[in-house]
Amino acid sequence: MATNLRIAVIGQSNFAADVLEQLLENSSVKVVGVFTIPDKGSREDILATTAASHNIPVFKFASWRRKGVALPEVLEQYKSVGATLNLLPYCSQFIPMEVIDGAALGSICYHPSILPRHRGASAISWTLIEGDEIAGFSIFWADDGLDTGPLLLTRQTNLEPTDTLDSIYKRFLYPEGVKAMVLAVDMVAKGTAPKIVQTEVGATYDPAMFRAENQILNLQQSAERIWNFIRGLDSVPGAIATVLQADGSEEQVRLFGAHLYSAGPVRAAQEIKLKGLPKPAWVHENGLLIEGTDGQLVNVRRIKRGSKMINACDWFKLAEHHPITDFTEDELVKRTDLSAIWQAILKQSIEASTDFFAAGAGSMDVVRLVEEVKEAFDVPLENEQVFMAPVFEEFFDLLIRTLRQGSSGGSSSKISYEGFTLKANKREIRVPTQLFINGVFLDAEKQRTLDIINPTNEQLLCKVACASVADADKAVQAAHKAFYGSWKQVSARQRGLLMLRLADLMEQHKEELATIESVDSGAVYTLALKTHIGMSIDAWRYFAGWCDKIQGNTIPVNPARPNNVLTFTRKEPIGVCGLITPWNYPLMMLSWKMAACIAAGNTCLIKPAQTCPLTALKFAELSVLAGFPPGVINVLPGKGSEAGQAVADHGLVNKLGFTGSTPVGQHIMKSCAASNLKKCSLELGGKSPLVIFADCDLDKAVRHGMSSVFFNKGENCIAAGRLFVEDRIHDEFVRRVLKDLRTMTIGDPLNRSTAHGPQNHKAHFDKLIEFCETGVAEGAKLVYGGCRVPNMKGYFFMPTVFTDVADDMFIAKEESFGPIMIISKFNGSDVDSVMLRANRTDYGLASGVFTKDISKALNFADRIDAGTVFVNVYNKTDVAAPFGGFKQSGFGKDLGQEALNEYMKTKCVTIEY
Ligand code: NAP
Repeated sequence: MATNLRIAVIGQSNFAADVLEQLLENSSVKVVGVFTIPDKGSREDILATTAASHNIPVFKFASWRRKGVALPEVLEQYKSVGATLNLLPYCSQFIPMEVIDGAALGSICYHPSILPRHRGASAISWTLIEGDEIAGFSIFWADDGLDTGPLLLTRQTNLEPTDTLDSIYKRFLYPEGVKAMVLAVDMVAKGTAPKIVQTEVGATYDPAMFRAENQILNLQQSAERIWNFIRGLDSVPGAIATVLQADGSEEQVRLFGAHLYSAGPVRAAQEIKLKGLPKPAWVHENGLLIEGTDGQLVNVRRIKRGSKMINACDWFKLAEHHPITDFTEDELVKRTDLSAIWQAILKQSIEASTDFFAAGAGSMDVVRLVEEVKEAFDVPLENEQVFMAPVFEEFFDLLIRTLRQGSSGGSSSKISYEGFTLKANKREIRVPTQLFINGVFLDAEKQRTLDIINPTNEQLLCKVACASVADADKAVQAAHKAFYGSWKQVSARQRGLLMLRLADLMEQHKEELATIESVDSGAVYTLALKTHIGMSIDAWRYFAGWCDKIQGNTIPVNPARPNNVLTFTRKEPIGVCGLITPWNYPLMMLSWKMAACIAAGNTCLIKPAQTCPLTALKFAELSVLAGFPPGVINVLPGKGSEAGQAVADHGLVNKLGFTGSTPVGQHIMKSCAASNLKKCSLELGGKSPLVIFADCDLDKAVRHGMSSVFFNKGENCIAAGRLFVEDRIHDEFVRRVLKDLRTMTIGDPLNRSTAHGPQNHKAHFDKLIEFCETGVAEGAKLVYGGCRVPNMKGYFFMPTVFTDVADDMFIAKEESFGPIMIISKFNGSDVDSVMLRANRTDYGLASGVFTKDISKALNFADRIDAGTVFVNVYNKTDVAAPFGGFKQSGFGKDLGQEALNEYMKTKCVTIEY
């Protein structure tokens, strides 16, 4: 027979409030009063707020007794509610026996251990510290002992090795405890609640862990006991250890995130001394390793120094990051305001170490935080910045930095670097000249530099830092850390937004970028604007769109009868990617590769060509403004034989994206195999055939034929290296080409009327002279150019035309990579032969055909062995179309959806159910 209970709830906290809410759903129960702690400042305990919202009388006593005697006025108020049962879900106060026995049915109490084990105030901690295999809770009838009263019910769960005080509370003790309290009340109401006397067998009384002296970690014990002690106090209050500093001083810290460690030797570890530990501990890339007395290891992931939580691996890096310490009074007021915003969202008191997400915040909370902070402080703020600074102190630091920089944002003065001012094109442009590693510009080891020469006047433009093997390693380590750290926190969609923001910044700075490109590489300014920079921006926008559309498949494999099987694939980023690029389109080559690489979720370092690294460095500056976390993008100007080789050889680089010559590509592929069998994609040289049939639109064929060779002064990988012109139109074709060449404007690439600028650098220029001399020596007919542009300083090479070129000549087979048109004739009756000749090359990058006959065109497309085929057009590339060669022009695609695959790996997951 159910009794109508009159319940007094005595306690505090969310746990008690949830118990109250659930009790109120039971109509046979009446809560006649709630007794809780007084308000802290203006903040009321959540139990009081919940009770008031249900019109339940609330009493707030600072204490129930004085000098061991119950306070009469308190007793009187308690008695006034006429409770028949006291319920103590979680109570930190000492309740006098007059109250415990003051209800007719007595008092039932929640305790977070399986009594009689772990009696006392810190039962959950001790469950972990003692290495118990099960955890649980008890609901017992309170008596005058410490957790000694008869048991009403108990519940238990297995303890997992990953459990901490936080996790066991959140996953089991809290949710199941609330339900069990309500059940216990129901059992009392129905008269079915037992009173099972506790045995004294196995009873323990454990010290209270809220005393600081009990929180000190004893390092003179086994690794397992060290680990259990740390997780028993994780996350509140944290186990205390003392670091003995090199200068003899001591620093008390708290340790969190411990686990037993058995992964073997660690890389690049640094020694650290802990008080009470005879051997040194080691700070390594994944934490702090402590050896127990049994020789086993514990790894600690996070350390709290003062009020700041850091990753243990960053112990020695603190000097590099200078947290703000000189807060103004106004900023300290802002700290209070910010704390209030966090508190309102998280509904808990905010410590310096409060982690927004660990405190239970979700994506809507991020939006709310960003909006409230923007409104309160008038600062630009993006959602992903919350993910990058999730701890209150870090977030406050970020806020103050942003406020100090001014709310306008986007100013290059934010990033400090050494550089030079390029005065060109009616502009003054600051250009960095240092390496870019881990989000900062810095000098190369031993201050080594490269000379950067302006090809238009052969003068020294500036000196740029030249990366060594050690610098390359530094960049790889930064990319590695970012890949497993900050970059992982950025969701795919946010990644896309960062890329779009970067593209917008490139657009805003496109004239600057095109000017730098023009001065550094000799690219004609108008072309640089449209292609070198324009297509770079397109690439970032195109791949930004892919970020949140990368997905695997579900695959119908054979079921394992009688069970079923689910098989699906995941497309995952590869990790740290090395990118090595040539000098012909410096920023565009960077963008083609890096945009796909970053969209797929990798981190990277790029070694641009040593002759023109300047746009890559300006780009690095923009990447900081766009908000990319440190280490995601690193730029290493340097020599291929040294910095480039170091990237290819590095064991932590998992993928190499290379564009350059075939011999270097072959060499690099060997390095990729020998180092760590890293995946590689190679975009190499070409000698692309262009076949022009007599039935073509001749005007168009001449226009595109010219551009197929002379576009970007021939420094174009898909340039037509050989033209086969049908004998019936050969002479007319040559005549028209020569006519156009005679009127081509050669000169300063910054001049808007210029069509042909200087070659990229001297070594290349000299090679072109040699190439032409070989052609003449072999008997080819030089009909135009073949030499330096007369009376001009700079690497200006005459656009050149050779005719009567035989198939076995050097110039018919080898790539010039310059403005040299190589023309051979063919007879229209012998299409098979011209196809054979067109395919008789080791390369297979691009090809083209001009004809009005669709069958001829499609036959050509079928039979040509090249990665790109142009019909009645040339050089028509697009960021959405895959680009890459066959044969010795390499493998793996840049651009288009296929490029993403180059920077991803496929994982296949099979589940039986
Ligand atoms: P390259 O000599 O092969 O150099 C390309 C890049 O590789 C440069 O950054 C170079 O550094 C670096 N490098 C050189 N040796 C290396 C090594 N041992 N380890 C790692 N990196 C090394 O080519 P390039 O002369 O700059 O460029 C012209 C070639 O690129 C032509 O053959 C052209 O066809 C080809 N290309 C192909 C494509 C395509 O998409 N298929 C596009 C553009 C260009 P340094 O700066 O120190 O030389």
